[in-house]
Amino acid sequence: MTNFKTNIEFAYSLDNLDELRSFKKEFFTPKGKDGKSCIYLNGNSLGLQPRKTREIIDQELQDWARLGVRGHFESSTPWTDYHQLLTKKMAKIVGAKPIETVIMNTLTANLHFLMISFYNPTKKRNKILIESDAFPSDRYAVESQIRLHGFDPKKCIIEWSPKTGEKLLKMDHLEDILEKKGDEIELLLIGGVNYYTGQYLNLKKIADLGHSKGCKIGIDLAHGAGNIKPELHKSGVDFAAWCTYKYLNSGPGNLGGVFVHERHAYDKSLKRLTGWWGQEKSNRFKMREPLHIIPGAEGWQVSNPPIISMAAIKASLDLFDMAGMDALRKKSVFLTDYLEFLILNLDNENIEIISPKKSDQRGCQLSILIKNSDKYLHKKLLKNNIITDWRDPGVIRCAPVPMYNSFEDIYNFSVILKTILSKN
Ligand SMILES: *Cc1c(COP(=O)(O)O)cnc(C)c1O
Repeated sequence: MTNFKTNIEFAYSLDNLDELRSFKKEFFTPKGKDGKSCIYLNGNSLGLQPRKTREIIDQELQDWARLGVRGHFESSTPWTDYHQLLTKKMAKIVGAKPIETVIMNTLTANLHFLMISFYNPTKKRNKILIESDAFPSDRYAVESQIRLHGFDPKKCIIEWSPKTGEKLLKMDHLEDILEKKGDEIELLLIGGVNYYTGQYLNLKKIADLGHSKGCKIGIDLAHGAGNIKPELHKSGVDFAAWCTYKYLNSGPGNLGGVFVHERHAYDKSLKRLTGWWGQEKSNRFKMREPLHIIPGAEGWQVSNPPIISMAAIKASLDLFDMAGMDALRKKSVFLTDYLEFLILNLDNENIEIISPKKSDQRGCQLSILIKNSDKYLHKKLLKNNIITDWRDPGVIRCAPVPMYNSFEDIYNFSVILKTILSKN
């Protein structure tokens, strides 16, 4: 660990050296009941609003008012191609090629669309492997897909769980499962960064292990996109899906991103659910042509995209493009290490950080277990204008987001946490 110091001057000096510090003012910071700015450490649930978002949405509203339907072709950013404006920037963030990337639908809906293509169970090979602590929506989606094919989720879900008494997943355990049951498993659907512990798994390793047993690999990147650098293309996973409202700051419930590896780009034999937006662009408006699917991820689109929502995504991706994932990840590691240092320095025996200790195995999230605490602690933090996320039993999830959190934020959080805990 770097030689961090415990005084506030040190936090100031880190902020002064931070090349990304000017991005903080590109975002609105929520205010507490007393009107003062909050310390926002909840970008893993909902990212903050970029100041530019309103202006970029407004542009589309004006074009719609001015042009009506002609906006599809004549607005300053023509709506028929609007999603393509976003593809390159989105692809860069997750380490994909443009042909592998599209923004469409919402996350869980996309998991369904992709499982239609990549979960084709047979009598012998019909199981899906998930993490034991998968996000509920992913588990429900998997259960319903299994039922859709006439199988029983109780028999067809295999869980990859931490060893007894442990909280993190181990790769050798996955290896064991695949060794024993690999040829019964059709699909591995795994969170690239676990929502609860912040554990960042080695996607390439998972893909290599799974593929060697003939399984397909899907990754839920809800907590990874805009956080870590997943290098999706190089990892070799078959598909991935993520939302854009967490680290990607596109606004509540906004559309999701999809990755389908290039090796599937021209495969017409894949089953899929189709709609007119997956049709070759030259034929899309001819209306009576048979369907010729667009190669690559765009071929999974069904509907014409909601432009107002897309505009909010554009506002955010522009900022990511300016900052760059290399610089963001670098600061992220530093900021999270600093938070870890300050929390450990509180020297409180009731505190246990359950996230991985190594920075290459975690994103910008520390899940801090506070023993003998309850949700009252979270409320006290909130009263002190600190926005974190609470998960039973006793876990505060903190996300020091490199885009808009400063070292001073982290310092102040640690001081307030210390004060609150000392009064308990
Ligand atoms: C946030 C999150 C979701 C939410 O899915 P929506 O369809 O966007 O509501 C699903 N899965 C994971 C792993 C998440 O972190």
